[in-house]
Amino acid sequence: MRIANEQISKMQTVLNGPNPKSHPAVVAAFGTNVNIFEIKSGVAKLQTETFFVDSADARPDVTQGATNDRDKHVLFGSSYFAGNDDKMRAGTVIHELAHTINKDVDHFKTDGSPYDFGAKPDTKNFLVGYSHMKDLKALRSDQMHKNTDSYCVFGEEDAKLARWALEEEDLDDQSSCVALTKRVPITLRIRLPQNR
Ligand SMILES: [Zn+2]
Repeated sequence: MRIANEQISKMQTVLNGPNPKSHPAVVAAFGTNVNIFEIKSGVAKLQTETFFVDSADARPDVTQGATNDRDKHVLFGSSYFAGNDDKMRAGTVIHELAHTINKDVDHFKTDGSPYDFGAKPDTKNFLVGYSHMKDLKALRSDQMHKNTDSYCVFGEEDAKLARWALEEEDLDDQSSCVALTKRVPITLRIRLPQNR
């Protein structure tokens, strides 16, 4: 949680700095035609609003994290507790925060427009925010403030940029957030009948 909070504070510093639209962490997470106003208000809410974690134990029916659409309660699963390091956990927390607090989504139509929060894609042709981020950024960067995982990537990219500035290393466009979601299947929703 501490790392997640630090990342959210750093996001705000970037967004309130000069020309946030062309900041490399913003471009990496949202693309080149972003709606800075929406991203700013989303990140501000991440910093101030509360979400609820019912249990400090891993839920057997959850892999990484899961959000209950209705009551802002978040559960974490075995991969979150056992398989992740602290930075990965921070990314999962930020991802679930974006779902619970801002009603951001994982699913997009093939034209890049987001599905409503809680809506299931009605076709097999849909794009997923954490798997098709590159395509979605190219298609509808102006809608990427609705993409849950962009906030996870924003936090991670910003931390990496700060680190790289110190180490004078080259940029790498693969964030560990995206690498994580590719490697570990994330349970998107709690698999309970009353949730859907
Ligand atoms: Zn999600």
